[in-house]
Amino acid sequence: MTKHVFQTEVNELLHLIIHSLYSHKEIFLRELVSNASDALDKLKYLTLTEDKFKKISFDPKIDIVFNDSSDGRSITILDSGIGMNEEDLIEHLGTIARSGTKNFLGKLTGDAKKDSNLIGQFGVGFYSCFMVADQVEVITRKAGEKEAYRWVSDGKTGFELDKTEKKEPGTEITLHLNEEGKEFANRWSITEILKKYSNHIAFPVYLHYEETTFDGEGDDKKEIKEQKTEQVNDATAFWKKPKSELKKKDYNEFYKTFSNDFQDPALHVHTQAEGALDYTTLFFVPEKAPQDLFYADYKPGVKLYVKRVFITDDEKELLPTYLRFVKGIIDSEDLPLNVSREILQQNRILDNIRKASVKKLLKSFQTLAKKDKEYIKFYEEFGRPLKEGYYQDRDNRELLEKLVRFKSTKAEGYTTLEDYVSRMQEDQKGIYYITGDNEATLRRSPLIEMYTKKDIEVLIADDEIDEIIIPGAAKYGDHDFKSVNRSNAGDELKKDDEPDEETLEKEVKPFIKKVKKVLGEKVKDVKVSSRLTDSPSVLVADADDPTFQMQEMMRAMGQAGMPDAKPILEINLDHPILKKMKGMRKSKDFDNATELLYEQALLLEGMKLENPADFVKRLNDVLTKSL
Ligand code: ADP
Repeated sequence: MTKHVFQTEVNELLHLIIHSLYSHKEIFLRELVSNASDALDKLKYLTLTEDKFKKISFDPKIDIVFNDSSDGRSITILDSGIGMNEEDLIEHLGTIARSGTKNFLGKLTGDAKKDSNLIGQFGVGFYSCFMVADQVEVITRKAGEKEAYRWVSDGKTGFELDKTEKKEPGTEITLHLNEEGKEFANRWSITEILKKYSNHIAFPVYLHYEETTFDGEGDDKKEIKEQKTEQVNDATAFWKKPKSELKKKDYNEFYKTFSNDFQDPALHVHTQAEGALDYTTLFFVPEKAPQDLFYADYKPGVKLYVKRVFITDDEKELLPTYLRFVKGIIDSEDLPLNVSREILQQNRILDNIRKASVKKLLKSFQTLAKKDKEYIKFYEEFGRPLKEGYYQDRDNRELLEKLVRFKSTKAEGYTTLEDYVSRMQEDQKGIYYITGDNEATLRRSPLIEMYTKKDIEVLIADDEIDEIIIPGAAKYGDHDFKSVNRSNAGDELKKDDEPDEETLEKEVKPFIKKVKKVLGEKVKDVKVSSRLTDSPSVLVADADDPTFQMQEMMRAMGQAGMPDAKPILEINLDHPILKKMKGMRKSKDFDNATELLYEQALLLEGMKLENPADFVKRLNDVLTKSL
């Protein structure tokens, strides 16, 4: 026998489950039956595709046995599925592999820890059985291997592992019920829970129980105990049922049987296609974004079946990456059962199913978009991946550009691009947008002063991926996107009172030179601004340079080695400060004023000062003089 300790995260998860899901204790059965069904799916696939497994007699089913005697209540779940070997046991029932879950655990604090919906989202899985059991015993043998193992744990610190005997491959999990769990050791509770959560499991689930009847009358009356077995579930592939027979409630129930989610889905899309291609798809969009949405090792939500046989739930190419929040199934009648991964990824049939599925999904989002309030709720969860799609998916550009939303200087909440264009001024040259990471800062940025004065709308692009997706999109209809953060933006909106050639040569150019000299290497250039009215200065990126936010993002993503692109300082010659400065000789005061113009522009951009102490000193010098 060997003793193993749980990975720290498992302990945390166990603690969390026990303390936050106590009002949903019953889900332990759903989780175990769903694991059993996955294990059957995996073995079924092997028996159909691999010679080594074709010979074994495979009777896919799940059996549930319970003991309700007061000296030891227990429930046992048996499956004839793939089973686990020693390595599998250590890896699957002792660690948490996915970083999304780990990270999620790390982020949970205070009251969030008690939010069962939040916790339900990432799937509590096997460990949920410790809500109702003080000891759990797993006896399992992997199909194709001889050795069987026994895993035992009290769900506190770790588990023990032993070799044992088991005749058939598969897994047998016995829960020795605790005070909290003893109410479940009876036929009615188990049946009720299974009907509620596991009715659509594609394999039969049998409940074994003892029935007591009486024979005879009076003194002759005899108690007869009989072992009985009842199939509790429907055991048909839910998605193959005619759509006309299915109600929203049925879809919601089915969703919960396979998604680990507690909440009803936001929407479902069911397609039963016949003709050139024969396939069924059933997709769901969860109410809340999965926790691992932005991790590279996110768990794909779509399972692939071929003629109702489960093939894989670990294939990220079934839908484009940006639709990774969609959960559901694809069941094809045309694919061969033993499709390899390589074939899957370049299979024409699958490619066509994928294309049709994407269109279907995007159209259903569009239908949702007709209901503003519901759509915004959806968009706040999934807007980001949709924007990724807007950037990546050229084939569906037209659908996606109707789905993206932006904040704006002229709209409450969000606006569509279509609405923006409908509000454009007659001679407006493009769709203006400002990027940065803080909405409040952006709304007050000097960069948009001129636009506000001229009553031109500016999109407030405060999501960091806007920096990439908007320039990537380049155009909406005939209208170019124009970044207000760049030095050439708004050239077409120049102020009317441009200085004449002579003033330019005699006054402006020498002045700019003086300012430049003070700032030296800090800036790429100094220019007269055509866009400022109230503010004295602003920093912008050169037309083809990445913006500061973009540079920050690249650095955060570890893209070191990218040369720093320096900003351009734009100054407003009509501002009183600049008017005064123009009359000054180069001096300490002039230098201070120049530095302050640069530093205040940095601050307004939401950037850090290189040297706050110097800034404060300069500011104090100026204050002292002016008071
Ligand atoms: P999840 O099912 O979300 O992966 P679980 O904690 O429920 O998480 O299970 C962890 C892993 O343990 C499963 O992915 C599977 O590999 C393995 N496992 C659990 N139950 C069984 C079973 N009955 N038969 C075979 N493997 C199982």
